[in-house]
Amino acid sequence: MDQIRTQVAIAGAGPVGTVAAYLLASQGIDVVLLEAGRDCALDLRASTFHPPTLEMLDQLDVTSRLIEMGLKAPIYHFRERQTGDVIEFDMSELSDVTRYPFRVQCEQYHLARMLSEAVRGQPGAQVLFNHRVLGFEQSASDITIHAETPLSIISIKADFLIAADGANSVVRKWLGTQFDGFTYPEKFLCYTTREPLEQHFSNLAHVNYVSDPHEWMVLLRVPSLWRVLVPASPEQDDGLLLADANKDEVFTRLLGDGRAVQTEHRTIYRVHQRVAQSFRSNRVLLIGDAAHLNNPIGGFGMNSGIHDAFNLGERLLSIYRHGADADHALNAFDVQRRRTACEFTQAQTIRNLQYLDAGKGGEHALRKREMEQVSADPVKRREFLLRQSMIDCLEREKEYA
Ligand SMILES: Cc1cc2nc3c(=O)[nH]c(=O)nc-3n(C[C@H](O)[C@H](O)[C@H](O)COP(=O)(O)OP(=O)(O)OC[C@H]3O[C@@H](n4cnc5c(N)ncnc54)[C@H](O)[C@@H]3O)c2cc1C
Repeated sequence: MDQIRTQVAIAGAGPVGTVAAYLLASQGIDVVLLEAGRDCALDLRASTFHPPTLEMLDQLDVTSRLIEMGLKAPIYHFRERQTGDVIEFDMSELSDVTRYPFRVQCEQYHLARMLSEAVRGQPGAQVLFNHRVLGFEQSASDITIHAETPLSIISIKADFLIAADGANSVVRKWLGTQFDGFTYPEKFLCYTTREPLEQHFSNLAHVNYVSDPHEWMVLLRVPSLWRVLVPASPEQDDGLLLADANKDEVFTRLLGDGRAVQTEHRTIYRVHQRVAQSFRSNRVLLIGDAAHLNNPIGGFGMNSGIHDAFNLGERLLSIYRHGADADHALNAFDVQRRRTACEFTQAQTIRNLQYLDAGKGGEHALRKREMEQVSADPVKRREFLLRQSMIDCLEREKEYA
């Protein structure tokens, strides 16, 4: 059986695993990045990059390329589907606290592909596609990871294993770590289309959260496409949900007559709110969707995973470079990032979806009034902007360790 020796092995070459791998490899740490797929998946899920994420990625020299490939979105809207009312937020108001007072709208696979290429170019780094992590054993001095290739099983001996292997993380399951939370009953149906939605509505922003008691929506612009996210009944068959008839109905409710709308992709997601009981088990560290899952309203999942990758990457560098105490550094990662996941990401995404799902009695009218007051009050508006752009949660977590 082949055996590879490295300092840090990383399972999963999604946006989070590739960030962790490049952060370490570019600082001279030996890494092996193991990806089950034959390339980084052409994944359309995340499209929003928030300001602190852009600042972090700037340290890896990729922010300017994301901006070139994507769209700058300083303005976002909370819209009422039934009345057409719009509450507008302008992130330019944060230009005193960030170099990037806007969101960048760009599909997540661009980042993963760009960084996996960059990792490959680093001395001491290997990117192994078609390598699926199966399991591992830890000892006092190292960890041995077993991975399956199309032809064989290989082993990698490492100091640490970073699990960035997504929602169904085999590493998390292997550890037996609890992944408590809940799954939303409804399915989330996502269409992409080249239909110029901006021509159907006046003043449509690149990012629009549309509330409605019957069918909330998210309308998001990426460079060549619009993405339309709607809820769907859990009882409805997936085949019927993805069929033309349902597409026609969804776009007819949106545009008046949607039969001519062509879609590029139609995808159904099951959405969860879950946080792993611990992000650390000795030499194994969980980051990204392997550690926490949340609904997509607000665009926090990938962003918070990248924040995990930076927090952990910097702590591993402090261990390798400055001889920091490993237990102390890695426990601090666990405490900070887990608390942020529970207290910020979970709580805020649940609130964001409740706002869109406007069907609960008089509650929505109350929430909408509160949102209008927030938008009208400069102090509350700034707090809201700092929270929704994820600047606030990163400031707070400095106090957690
Ligand atoms: C509709 C929708 C919209 C979203 N929009 C946003 C958004 O705008 N902004 C945002 O921040 N987040 C968003 N998210 C969430 C975001 O997509 C995820 O949080 C993000 O993809 C997590 O990245 P990751 O690298 O942790 O996991 P993944 O992207 O799932 O990557 C995991 C990788 O690990 C690989 N893998 C799995 N098992 C193994 C194994 N055993 N061995 C080796 N490799 C393995 C997989 O092949 C995959 O490449 C959205 C989610 C949905 C559903």
